[in-house]
Amino acid sequence: MTATTIRLPALERHFGDRAILPGDARFEAARAVWNGTVDTRPAAVLRCADAADVALALRIARAEGLPVAVRGGGHQIAGAAVVADGVVLDLSPMRYADISADGTVSVGGGALLGDLDRATDRVGRVVPAGTVSHTGVGGLTLGGGVGWLSPRLGLTCDSLISVDLVTAAGETRTVDAGTDPDLFWALRGLGANFGVATRFVFRTHPQGPVVAGRSEIPLDRAAEVLTRIGACAAELPRALGVLARLERPAAVPVLGVEWVWSADPADAAAAIRPLGLPAGTVRTRRFPAVQTTVDHRFPHGGRYYLKPAQLAELGPAQAEALVEGATRFPAGDPQLEVLRLGGAVADVPQEATAFPGRAAAFAVNVTASADDPALEAAQRRWARETHAVIAGLGTGGAYLNFADRELDLATVLGAPVHDRLRRVKHRLDPDDVFRPAQHITPRPEQ
Ligand SMILES: Cc1cc2nc3c(=O)[nH]c(=O)nc-3n(C[C@H](O)[C@H](O)[C@H](O)COP(=O)(O)OP(=O)(O)OC[C@H]3O[C@@H](n4cnc5c(N)ncnc54)[C@H](O)[C@@H]3O)c2cc1C
Repeated sequence: MTATTIRLPALERHFGDRAILPGDARFEAARAVWNGTVDTRPAAVLRCADAADVALALRIARAEGLPVAVRGGGHQIAGAAVVADGVVLDLSPMRYADISADGTVSVGGGALLGDLDRATDRVGRVVPAGTVSHTGVGGLTLGGGVGWLSPRLGLTCDSLISVDLVTAAGETRTVDAGTDPDLFWALRGLGANFGVATRFVFRTHPQGPVVAGRSEIPLDRAAEVLTRIGACAAELPRALGVLARLERPAAVPVLGVEWVWSADPADAAAAIRPLGLPAGTVRTRRFPAVQTTVDHRFPHGGRYYLKPAQLAELGPAQAEALVEGATRFPAGDPQLEVLRLGGAVADVPQEATAFPGRAAAFAVNVTASADDPALEAAQRRWARETHAVIAGLGTGGAYLNFADRELDLATVLGAPVHDRLRRVKHRLDPDDVFRPAQHITPRPEQ
């Protein structure tokens, strides 16, 4: 199928060579997103450098009746950053992170986590975010944001002070807890539904060098170690981030337990002792270096399939289900990841933000990937079956930033939260211009 081609004087006059249309040598790269299974052909990719660009791009798209997608880092698993026969508002020119004297950081709508981590590290501070440096700050923050520092510092959106938002009507407004509490609540969890965030302002937190380690455990001991992590998680110091990953780095599956200690390096050994891990690598490093450690495990263009779940506890049943999933690993590069949450994430009252599932103790990702499309059917079957078992032992919820379009949003959010989001959506975007993967449809006040 060939995509719609738009050649509009207003578009070409204003965007010049920042308008990338089919036929342009840059078009294939401009439409590609992180997940190589996404093959969506938009009518135009418009590189937006500021809020005025975004407002104009929205006006052009809407006048032509074309659908719109917003692209931050392009990581959303279902490819929500592109839209068929529509206009992609590519925020990549807005890749900045500027520290202010008051200890806050202003971050452009198209910045990546690496941009944010490097800027804050230069002044010995941090914003808690994800674990892969090429992820977009935009999508991650608007959907919550979890990572190594979550138990100590909460979600990324918990450090958010304000958002500069261009609405569907093309108006720019600064949204914070004082100006529009209802919208600010909605932006922290389901934020991609309400407008284009051109600038985020975050509070930052002191951060020195961290101690990062990894131990590898054979599969026949993996359930025991996972169960021990689950048993001691609630008592572990909050400064200890833990990510257990069942994977197959060579011929046989193993459990890799990675951890990051973000308090005084001298206390790291005592902090990890309850995990009872075998000897492994341990290094004291600056935080941005840790944040790039697994970048190469998730390259752009790989063919990924991912299903998320949340666990209230990691007991023997959950541990055995995870290990059993690893014994059935299909070909390719499958992974089962378990990330420690709790602590500061759960300190924030559930009703304070739209983000669902703050009480979950662990987030789980079931990920399949392979270069060969012929392997995909078997991979997806494995991921769906494994996920069904693990999710059945979990909270019934999922971290929305890892979910595809199949998730039943009303069930995960609960009816009152879903209805409230639909009313905010009706006020901000009554014509339903913004349709991210976790899509809230407008609903008038009744
Ligand atoms: C390899 C990898 C590692 C990851 N690791 C983590 C992790 O450690 N922690 C974690 O919390 N999440 C993680 N994620 C999930 C990540 O949070 C989501 O994929 C998120 O959608 C990424 O945002 P993005 O801007 O890169 O993606 P995009 O696909 O560009 O955007 C995602 C959604 O947000 C919208 N959006 C993006 N920017 C803006 C903006 N400025 N204004 C309005 N809407 C916007 C888009 O329209 C789209 O609907 C990871 C994902 C991948 C692929």
